[in-house]
Amino acid sequence: MRPLSMVDLKSQHLKIKNELDAAMAEVMETTAFIKGPQVAKFEADLATYLGCKYVTGCANGTDALQIALMALNLPKGSEIITPDFTFVATAEVVRLLGFTPVIVDVDADTFNILPSSIEEAITENTKAIIPVHLFGQCADMDAIMAIAKKHNLFVIEDTAQAIGADCFYQGKKVKAGTVGHIGCTSFFPSKNLGCAGDGGAMFTNDEELHKQIHSIANHGMGKHYHYDYIGVNSRLDTLQAAVLGVKLPHLDEYNAARRNAADKYDTAFAGIASLQTPKRATNSTHIFHQYTLKVLDGRRDGLGDYLNNNKIPNKVYYPVAVHESRAYKTACRFEESRLLNTINLCKEVISLPMHTELDDEQIEFITTTVKQYFN
Ligand SMILES: *Cc1c(COP(=O)(O)O)cnc(C)c1O
Repeated sequence: MRPLSMVDLKSQHLKIKNELDAAMAEVMETTAFIKGPQVAKFEADLATYLGCKYVTGCANGTDALQIALMALNLPKGSEIITPDFTFVATAEVVRLLGFTPVIVDVDADTFNILPSSIEEAITENTKAIIPVHLFGQCADMDAIMAIAKKHNLFVIEDTAQAIGADCFYQGKKVKAGTVGHIGCTSFFPSKNLGCAGDGGAMFTNDEELHKQIHSIANHGMGKHYHYDYIGVNSRLDTLQAAVLGVKLPHLDEYNAARRNAADKYDTAFAGIASLQTPKRATNSTHIFHQYTLKVLDGRRDGLGDYLNNNKIPNKVYYPVAVHESRAYKTACRFEESRLLNTINLCKEVISLPMHTELDDEQIEFITTTVKQYFN
């Protein structure tokens, strides 16, 4: 059997090695390392793929969230609502910019931010919501946009884990990240669309927001050496854009391969009482950035140990809620009694190997071992 790993980039890259090598060699030859033509080309290609007007590349997904927030020009004291069960980047950038992260609960089955918990947390200082489309499927954008309209809030979508997923919004099929005011994504190597290092992007249909985003990512520059905004240095490297230009045409096929592996896991695990396979939301397709099981009856850590003993990679995303992290306990606003789903999920979830190169033999070994544990 081929060795198991959580993510198998090597096998994925070998299949497109010639294209990747040629694209990178071209950048080396032209030495246009910053703002080379591959960057604008990739931004245009991604905009076409997403069906949105403007895309700006940047240095990573966390910067994308920060730049998006900067472009909103929010007043001091603004509160921004983000989920408790997620990667830290959303709360991090809110706090870094001096705003207050307001941490709310997620749905116990889809793991995505709960619209009802958003409504409960709104005050007169609330200015924006940052839903995270966790593990590969979209949060309930119909409900979230309705709340945002009612309370006049901005919505920044964190689509780092759901790039290419279809979102069903107002009865139409659109791409994840294109419904809110700004969408943000990451091209961290292990993401569904990953580059060969760090990278990220922001997307919007709003021309004014786009102008600011584009400028802020490059020191807030307008005309050369004329500064219109306080900005940051966060550009997408030409080499990364070249790699992404090769991989973007494969994104749908990559996402389908992940879904196919998830289908096989689902089938194998059906009927195990202590295991809950990932619920697929009706408002989104699922592109399985992670395949995350809920293990009931306190058996999660036991399963993790059993998999480790059998050399099957596994990981807990996320073992600690944002509000429970040392740095965020005092830096956020939250009510712990309203975060019970997240608190339970941190004890119940476990993720199995999920990538584009899983073969039947590997899946068979993984699923058989999991079933053995429960027998
Ligand atoms: C990966 C990730 C980010 C951050 O992306 P980086 O490129 O690593 O900065 C933000 N949000 C979520 C949900 C992520 O998974």
